[in-house]
Amino acid sequence: MIFETLGRAVVIFAVAFAVLLVLALLFCLFIFHTNRIIFPNFVLFATSLLYEPLRRLLSFFRVDPTLIDRVSVEIRNALNYHEFAATRVDERVLLLPQCLRSPECPAKLSAVDGLHCAGKEACGRCAIAELSAACEELGVKVFVSPGGTFAKRILLQSQPKAVVGVACYNNLAEGMLNAKLVGVPAQGVPLTTPGCVSTTVDIDKIIEKCKMQKETK
Ligand code: SF4
Repeated sequence: MIFETLGRAVVIFAVAFAVLLVLALLFCLFIFHTNRIIFPNFVLFATSLLYEPLRRLLSFFRVDPTLIDRVSVEIRNALNYHEFAATRVDERVLLLPQCLRSPECPAKLSAVDGLHCAGKEACGRCAIAELSAACEELGVKVFVSPGGTFAKRILLQSQPKAVVGVACYNNLAEGMLNAKLVGVPAQGVPLTTPGCVSTTVDIDKIIEKCKMQKETK
């Protein structure tokens, strides 16, 4: 009797797992191909719960597994829009990844507040200088982060009202979740060329996000 009950429970669990996996996959593909966000909270829940199985399934069908992170980032951008856009521009921070630096970067990395860029005049070898100059005019604080733990600490210490994060899709999805956990609405902008060094970004898109305010009709 006990084995029969156990057997049934295993079958029910396996069916529920398979249904959730297929639904999550279909919703992700729909969102990715149509840019229309449906059932955002369900998709975020299912993709967090089944992150690895979904990635493996996509790889099996020779589809780029970062699709899961792309969809998560787009959903979080949409869900956070109103809260983010309601904040003042000068109460926001911009978190940049240190992989943007040039290999010849002369700046020192501080464990306390990240990288101190030498600026456009003194160096200007990467996008950090231009973004720092533009953000200084806007009143947006810029931090160049060596990793996720640093980024989370900066959010807790500087207590911004909102954050714009820049990273590869994978780190962006994780970073936006961390921002939500510490109560800071985030907008994410993916790298245009991901990697470990000399990555690139769309500077205009980042500035646009930093300045984003609620649309008035
Ligand atoms: S612009 Fe700033 S961050 Fe970029 S390489 Fe030069 S000093 Fe380093």
